[in-house]
Amino acid sequence: MTAPLNATPIEEGPVRPSAHFDVLIAGAGPAGCSAAITLAPRYRVALVDRSDQQTFRIGESLCPAGRRLLTKMDLWQDFLRQGHQACYGNRSIWGSDGVQETDFLRDPDGNGWHLDRARFDFWLRNHAVAKGSQLYSPLYRQ
Ligand SMILES: Cc1cc2nc3c(=O)[nH]c(=O)nc-3n(C[C@H](O)[C@H](O)[C@H](O)COP(=O)(O)OP(=O)(O)OC[C@H]3O[C@@H](n4cnc5c(N)ncnc54)[C@H](O)[C@@H]3O)c2cc1C
Repeated sequence: MTAPLNATPIEEGPVRPSAHFDVLIAGAGPAGCSAAITLAPRYRVALVDRSDQQTFRIGESLCPAGRRLLTKMDLWQDFLRQGHQACYGNRSIWGSDGVQETDFLRDPDGNGWHLDRARFDFWLRNHAVAKGSQLYSPLYRQ
């Protein structure tokens, strides 16, 4: 169970007229959070999402190359501490009846990861806020 983030609830109304931002990012999924994490040290960033951090999201694997992005954002070591499970290949049926297999044994980036997706997204949002982004999203309620 994750604790609520230090976010401004959207239900409280629109962004204060006195709030000034250089960048507004719509969507605090992995893409939006990564942009916020990268920009927040230099710019005033508002990160806006219509869903709270507990909303179910599809997609629970991280491919090996994800390591490069997390390393660039200086999050790789912290990611390793999150307890996601290593995975060594993908088997998928997508767009046809055939099974497609990709093994990561020869991947220069190493293995991939089975993500606890809600925890992963919450972790990224936390880092975006820690870097100085202002997150506007509905409050998480237990
Ligand atoms: C069936 C399926 C399986 C997938 N499996 C994988 C997988 O295993 N591994 C993988 O890496 N990728 C997978 N993907 C792709 C996956 O969706 C993306 O990797 C990842 O979720 C993309 O992150 P994102 O931040 O771009 O978008 P999202 O994670 O979709 O985040 C978008 C955010 O924007 C918010 N938002 C949307 N509209 C608005 C609005 N109007 N105003 C405010 N906020 C808004 C949403 O609430 C959400 O938080 C899968 C996709 C599908 C469809």
